[in-house]
Amino acid sequence: MSTTRNSPSKILYAMILGLLAGLIARGLVSSPEVLLPWINGLTKPIGTLFIRLILMLVIPLLVSALISGVLEAGTGKNLGKMGLRTLFIVIILSSLSVFIGLGIVNWIQPGRFVPQAAIQAMNHTLPPKIESKGIWENMLQIVPMNPLKEAAFAFDPKNSEGGIIAVMFFALFIGIAMLRVPEKEARPVREFFQSLFTISQRGLEIVLKLTPLAVACFLFNLGAQLGLEGFRLIGVYVAVVLAALLLHGVGVYSFVLIFGTNHHPIHFFKKTSEALLMAFSTASSNATLPKSLEVAEKKLNLPPSVARFVLTIGASANQNGTALFEGVTILFLAQVYGIDLSFAQQLQVAGLCILAGVGTAGVPSASIPFIAAVGAGVGIPLEGVTLILGVDRFLDMCRTTVNVGGDLVCAAVVARGDREKEDRVL
Ligand code: ASP
Repeated sequence: MSTTRNSPSKILYAMILGLLAGLIARGLVSSPEVLLPWINGLTKPIGTLFIRLILMLVIPLLVSALISGVLEAGTGKNLGKMGLRTLFIVIILSSLSVFIGLGIVNWIQPGRFVPQAAIQAMNHTLPPKIESKGIWENMLQIVPMNPLKEAAFAFDPKNSEGGIIAVMFFALFIGIAMLRVPEKEARPVREFFQSLFTISQRGLEIVLKLTPLAVACFLFNLGAQLGLEGFRLIGVYVAVVLAALLLHGVGVYSFVLIFGTNHHPIHFFKKTSEALLMAFSTASSNATLPKSLEVAEKKLNLPPSVARFVLTIGASANQNGTALFEGVTILFLAQVYGIDLSFAQQLQVAGLCILAGVGTAGVPSASIPFIAAVGAGVGIPLEGVTLILGVDRFLDMCRTTVNVGGDLVCAAVVARGDREKEDRVL
């Protein structure tokens, strides 16, 4: 349960510093072109290094997280009705969150507010137009003929096969197959993937220590090349993410609480406020887990066995805010780069984001590698992610609050079912 040491204030200072430096530099020179040698020779390579370091960890992190997640949800001690009920609620809540996000991003089209000239001004290469395929072709690509090849070419924009999607399918399939192998025989591989997951998470933590430096560089580039205009461009995107998170975190959760539990939404949010605030300030579901457990048992009076089971799994595998954010961001970036995603491709992105709720680690910025990877799969250039990095910490704080809220709502629903079962026995 570790988290990175990047405090929000450090990142905030880095943002302000980078942006101010960029704006001042832009003000001092006759034309932004004069700054290009600095950008291309210093700040851009640092940012690219950061993205490459993250991408280096994507495959081991995703594969081990998915396999361990399936094993954790399906092993002996966790199996049974409680596990199934949790899984059912997780899937329903995640799907709702993703479709809310995709609905709003399709409606508002925040990517249209970013003119292509701005992207070119930032030296981002526009991707070649990818021909959209039929629904069956897209679906069949999810199943890799050669998972190693898909992993090797996952970030190659010319790879027209399943890429990261196919790798995720393979990991899920192996996880499910492992559940059907006697425990003793599966143990070495299970331990390998659990250990790989811990190591990859630690690797990500090390890389994320560079976040303030990378964010300062990205904002320098943004400020120097686009001036304050740069912020107006992504302002609509930020507003769309916040509106969708609010709709899900307040609207959907209240609805579920009213019809699925005995808790009044206002009382529920009041009682859980400590955990929600902690999620907001740490931007990590894992780091918030001890607080969520305390709140669930002491304030919501949920049975400890239910709280422990649902919240432990939920801290890594039930991330509604993350799933929603990833869907909105991928579609936003596709709009920015003029990539027309067909209905089938959007459905595929939605399915992946629902899976991402399981596969994204509960640590700050864990969504970023996923966005880069799935984005590459639909033709979004890798540097596209840099467009949103400056605002990611703030959005991470908001989506993590929705993640933790979703875990507590899920625990309350499962606990109600459990109590009803007990009442029937008595
Ligand atoms: N920070 C999120 C969490 O811990 C994960 C993410 O979306 O980056 O829940």
